[in-house]
Amino acid sequence: MIGDRSVIVIHDERMLNHQPDAKDPYLPGRLERRVREILNGLAVQWNYPEHPGRLRAILELLKAEPVPGTGSRSAEAATHEQLARVHGTAYLHEIERLRGKHAWLDVDTTAVSPGSVEAAEVAAGAAIAAVEIVCRGEADSAFALCRPPGHHAEPVRARGFCLFNNAAVAAAHAREALGCERVLIVDWDAHHGNGTQDIFWASPDVMLFDTHRAAPFYPGSGHLEDVGAGLGEGTIVNVPLPGGAGDAAMLNAFRNILVPAAEWFKPDLILVSAGFDAHRLDLCLNVSYEGFGAMTAVVQELADRLCQGRLALVLEGGYHLEALARGVRSVLQVLAGGEAPAPSEIGIQEVAEAAEYHRTAFTGDFD
Ligand SMILES: [Zn+2]
Repeated sequence: MIGDRSVIVIHDERMLNHQPDAKDPYLPGRLERRVREILNGLAVQWNYPEHPGRLRAILELLKAEPVPGTGSRSAEAATHEQLARVHGTAYLHEIERLRGKHAWLDVDTTAVSPGSVEAAEVAAGAAIAAVEIVCRGEADSAFALCRPPGHHAEPVRARGFCLFNNAAVAAAHAREALGCERVLIVDWDAHHGNGTQDIFWASPDVMLFDTHRAAPFYPGSGHLEDVGAGLGEGTIVNVPLPGGAGDAAMLNAFRNILVPAAEWFKPDLILVSAGFDAHRLDLCLNVSYEGFGAMTAVVQELADRLCQGRLALVLEGGYHLEALARGVRSVLQVLAGGEAPAPSEIGIQEVAEAAEYHRTAFTGDFD
């Protein structure tokens, strides 16, 4: 029943102070053009898609429709030492120099405003707090509402709205400070977690399972054949999918690839890079709210069976505000003990209606 399990949602107001603006006079016009290209066809009102309204939408929905069993907590900023476990020192110094400034960091999309560096440190700190909560048994699960997101951030490069790789920082912290030996990261964001893959490419101690819309979709990485290297060979598990994949395909990947991979890897902590741009209203992996809930149930069952229930989630993408907020809430309901919802058979109903239309719209000789 919802409320049977305890969940802590981690949120900190400082993450709202990351407010890049693609129309900012400090930034080159190319960013605005690039963002316009990315937004083409999407119903996004802001000119920088990764905006504070994303977190506000989630918080407002959770306030209006609270999920029993969930509590909340603020975060501390990650320290230089914690970030340096996965990012190069020169890169961290480069980011430090941007504190209090407006700047554009990469050729894609990533920009900062005066509050961004602190927001990014707090986002990484929120991910750390999530793993600390579950490793210390303070709650059954924890969900860090991080922004900026993290999974595109590479060891020495900001990319795709991401400055620090929050999930990777949390995984490294769990290993080095909380006694975990093996960490499984499940990344269900619609985009490939290129940064997480780079950071743990040769690590036998961190497994990445990543479902994403296949290249050439941004960022263009995440091929089936990319499985890690050296001692880490076999611990990168990419599942590239076509844009219209939907709940059935995602759950198939979770049940038939993730479950046996996790059973082989035997993690003692599971971290989810939870992006909601896979929702059908967003960038189209055609996942429904029930689909996100059902994916959560698979991961929760693995955590219960393999790692004493230790399950922490960090927010990644999700740009359609309703899909983002409702997606997070569907996940929280399952984390809090709700039944795994039946995933929708997306498209099946539409086909049935179309068949009915064709059957009856003409002279009845369709049968
Ligand atoms: Zn994404």
